[in-house]
Amino acid sequence: MSIKFNNTYARLPERFFAKQNPARVPEATLIRLNRSLAERLSIDVDWLESKDGIGMLAGNLVPEGAEPIAQAYAGHQFGGFVPQLGDGRAVLMGEIIDARGSRYDLQLKGSGRTPFSRGGDGKSALGPVLREYIVSEAMAVLGVPTTRALAAVSTGESVYRPEGSIPGGVFTRVASSHIRVGTFQYFYARNDIDGVRALADYVIARHYPEAAATSNPYAALIASVADSQADLIAQWMSLGFIHGVMNTDNMAVSGETIDYGPCAFMDAFHPQCVFSSIDKGARYAWGNQPDIGYWNLARFTETLLPLLSEDTDKATKMGEAALSGYPDRFSSQYIARFRAKLGLPPESPISVVQGCLDLLSAQKIDFTLFFRHLTLVASGERSEVISTLIAESESFEKWFSQWRDEADTDSLLVRMQAANPILIPRNHRIEQAVQAAYHGDYAPFHLLVDALAAPYEERSEFAAFESPPKPEEIVHETFCGT
Ligand code: AMP
Ligand code: MG
Repeated sequence: MSIKFNNTYARLPERFFAKQNPARVPEATLIRLNRSLAERLSIDVDWLESKDGIGMLAGNLVPEGAEPIAQAYAGHQFGGFVPQLGDGRAVLMGEIIDARGSRYDLQLKGSGRTPFSRGGDGKSALGPVLREYIVSEAMAVLGVPTTRALAAVSTGESVYRPEGSIPGGVFTRVASSHIRVGTFQYFYARNDIDGVRALADYVIARHYPEAAATSNPYAALIASVADSQADLIAQWMSLGFIHGVMNTDNMAVSGETIDYGPCAFMDAFHPQCVFSSIDKGARYAWGNQPDIGYWNLARFTETLLPLLSEDTDKATKMGEAALSGYPDRFSSQYIARFRAKLGLPPESPISVVQGCLDLLSAQKIDFTLFFRHLTLVASGERSEVISTLIAESESFEKWFSQWRDEADTDSLLVRMQAANPILIPRNHRIEQAVQAAYHGDYAPFHLLVDALAAPYEERSEFAAFESPPKPEEIVHETFCGT
């Protein structure tokens, strides 16, 4: 058999999803297949690259064992609640169990209309497909929990967007699951407490089995999801990553980064940095992400209150208690990651970290390059390598000598190298790759994906990808593009 599906979500009550086959497309062409991921999932790579395999990746073929469904969910978008969202341009083909026994969803994104499409066409333009491929694979090798890219295909048809007619594509996404905070909200908003319970039991069994053994599994579920989000967001912060649309429908309860829309890695550091064209209020700025995460988790907790206790006051107190670990967990993870970036020992003063970020923001210094160059200094290079980044040297020298005093000389270099990537998917590079693809040239896309495959390694052939954008290359806004 081509793919051995083992589906469980499709066994949940019918109101959890709509059965929906993907739309057929005129001309499926494989752009890139993630062979190593396919192998890890025990999918036959030769079959995936065959006409049938590519047909499946484009939506033209539903293989035996697949049960395509569009999942129902709701969500707070920019703070406003929308009771029905759901997969409007994606279908879950089914689930696969990898060699290590882990379960994964296989989802097609851009695969046509579903009952949740509302006014949309259910399609995806090629740009967002390539963008998600580049960024999600980069995140994975950077060590960030994330959904993965199995394949990108072009469909041979055009999609119509405000900017014009654009080539269409389908993205194949692999995720531990696609269950979102908004999935819980969907049932809660309908006062469907049985639905919330069935979903919570499913999530505990699939993602947090240790919660089942505790005295209150639902409270343990809240605490586990909160922990995984605290860790995730701290990791984003340490890489200068801005998700861009942290709506509750874009927060996976598994703790993976999901839905790469207008996300971006910062070039010049600023805590209020925002790229998304639709985030006018800067709600999802880099520095707001921990608080937004907390807010989203409070919405998640709300949906579970009826399961915690029949007594509403008691349930509220239990919910608050379950969530109460988040701020400290986030802070300790965040500080630990920045201490590692700076090679500082565990008990070193937080002022060195804060002083660093103040310096970066005051002088608009490139985030990734600063830590990269500081790592070079730790490796024995002269401190002058960093001076090209510095506009005003007096404040830098002051901070630098403080850093020298505090840095942990024993493990300095090893820790810094592991915490400071040399390469990140910079906006302008993604944009160049997408624009070339729109002109039929996929070479820059492939080169960028290859460059990002080993972001912590010195590889001189990819040195050009380290550079921040030239003024004319700067991408000021990113778009959902859907
Ligand atoms: P997102 O912006 O990716 O978080 O999507 C928000 C909601 O809009 C989800 O319910 C999507 O399925 C839906 N959506 C986004 N783009 C489209 C589209 N082209 N057609 C149908 N639904 C869409
Ligand atoms: Mg989404």
